[in-house]
Amino acid sequence: MAETRFTGSFTQQEPIPEDGIAAAVDLLRSGRLHRYNTVAGETPAAAALEAAYAAWQGQRYCLALASGGYALATALRALGVGHGDKVLTNAFTLAPVPGAITSVGAEPVLVEVTEDLLIDPDDLAAKARASGARVLLLSLMRGHLGNMDKVMQVVAAEGLTLVEDCAHTMGARFDGTRSGNFGVAGCFSTQTYKHMNSGEGGLLVSEDAAFMARAIILSGSYMNYERHGAAPPPEAFRQIRLETPNCSGRMDNLRAAILLPQLTRLEEQCAAWTERYRIVESALRDLPGVTMPHRGGREDFVGSSLQFRLAGAEGDAARAFLADCAALGVELKWFGAPEPQGFTSLHHSWAYIPAQALPRTDAILATLFDMRLPLTFSPADCRHLGAILNGAIGRHMARVGTG
Ligand SMILES: *Cc1c(COP(=O)(O)O)cnc(C)c1O
Repeated sequence: MAETRFTGSFTQQEPIPEDGIAAAVDLLRSGRLHRYNTVAGETPAAAALEAAYAAWQGQRYCLALASGGYALATALRALGVGHGDKVLTNAFTLAPVPGAITSVGAEPVLVEVTEDLLIDPDDLAAKARASGARVLLLSLMRGHLGNMDKVMQVVAAEGLTLVEDCAHTMGARFDGTRSGNFGVAGCFSTQTYKHMNSGEGGLLVSEDAAFMARAIILSGSYMNYERHGAAPPPEAFRQIRLETPNCSGRMDNLRAAILLPQLTRLEEQCAAWTERYRIVESALRDLPGVTMPHRGGREDFVGSSLQFRLAGAEGDAARAFLADCAALGVELKWFGAPEPQGFTSLHHSWAYIPAQALPRTDAILATLFDMRLPLTFSPADCRHLGAILNGAIGRHMARVGTG
């Protein structure tokens, strides 16, 4: 059967829901976009979002911020991470993660990932000891969180402080616990390509009052910490408010107004993503040459993107496979490309940090492909994508002669 070209856009998210648009227009008419610009009796959208997200996430405190990357840097600063400190993180992540570590003057210590795209707990323990790093910034890259139990064992055994980068795990759970609730802090992004869309935005959650008081002052609260939606009591700020610098990175009411109605639908959206993931996954899983990350039953992931490795897909063979897919309208990223193009996930291209040898991660990334699954794709679209990939993978295997 001739394959028909796929015409969907891999970067097209859904529109903002109508109630979000209406809330945004009302806010624009009021002119009160700044989170501390309120009239008597009014709860600003930023504070309402903090209260609603804290309740949804099941954490006491929540802070709305300008971006996910800013949430990561704020978490590190609020923990006292600073110049010359080392911070552990997995080598397969996105550039905002080493960027956040570098922005506070610290140095990333990169940890190997496993074939299932999880941080390698043995390498984590070894590098914690060798580097003396006290903080793990765990990036749950592409939503893989299947070994949180093992990570938490190493965190406990090595006495590490855990911060979770949940840019791809908003709504995901491990053993019933929401991603973001395992460490001292969880960091989320509401940038357009994540699970809620406000263009740019970040959310930081924690159960630790002193940590959150520092984070709120750091975010630029101008001493308006009593006007937050899910903040510790004023006593928590007494000393901290004078000792903590203002590094402005607040969220405004406009973004919060757009996010509030999205939060009420988040659970359904996550289920819709995973339904789409399962359709494409089932078309690829058993094909010769394909290895998909194993997703154990303890992980309740959100399938907003899909990764697979393809035997023999290195160098020109990988480029031929990408071109075959692209000709049929299927846009894939290949993490084995020597130059980062349209992605920033290769540790070799982070020349601002000391070069580190990660042979196992490099071997995995060499043949790793990545596909976004925006919710503008219907289940039928996903069956179409599965059929195209099936054909392209078959042709690739015939070319490399191992199929
Ligand atoms: C998007 C992303 C971030 C940062 O989010 P921004 O809101 O773009 O700053 C952090 N980590 C990962 C893995 C991401 O994909």
